[in-house]
Amino acid sequence: MAGFAQEEAMHRTIRCAHCHCRFLPDPRVKHQRFCANKPCQRARKTRWQRAKLATDPDYQANQRDSQRNWQNQHPHYWQQYRHQHADYRERNRLLQQHRDHKRRVRPLAKMDVLELVSCIQPGMYHLIPVVGPHLAKMDVLSQKCHVIPMT
Ligand SMILES: [Zn+2]
Repeated sequence: MAGFAQEEAMHRTIRCAHCHCRFLPDPRVKHQRFCANKPCQRARKTRWQRAKLATDPDYQANQRDSQRNWQNQHPHYWQQYRHQHADYRERNRLLQQHRDHKRRVRPLAKMDVLELVSCIQPGMYHLIPVVGPHLAKMDVLSQKCHVIPMT
């Protein structure tokens, strides 16, 4: 009997939109798409906030105001943060370098692939993760790259 109930419950499980695990949704929550795990709930909140920011000008203005207030109350926070986090400074420096490089390289867009590949010199490169919600905590990965031209 317990086995039957378990099987019944299995049929009612859904897949979490964040971790893709199967879970039994709470019948009190309408259109539940995320399981109760902390990272999944955080992801749900982030998505909600992002959507809200994109669609609700009042929410956007509110967020801007409260951020401004917080910054006025903590005027040296980011200065201190940058001072204390060498990895953050390094990442920003590399991202800026990358933006500068992209600005300079734009006219190359019409070059064919072979020409572009030959522009990349073998050597040490930094792999910079694409911007995410925890920007400040991200690390820069250093990887040695060998360029292998296709023939
Ligand atoms: Zn989940």
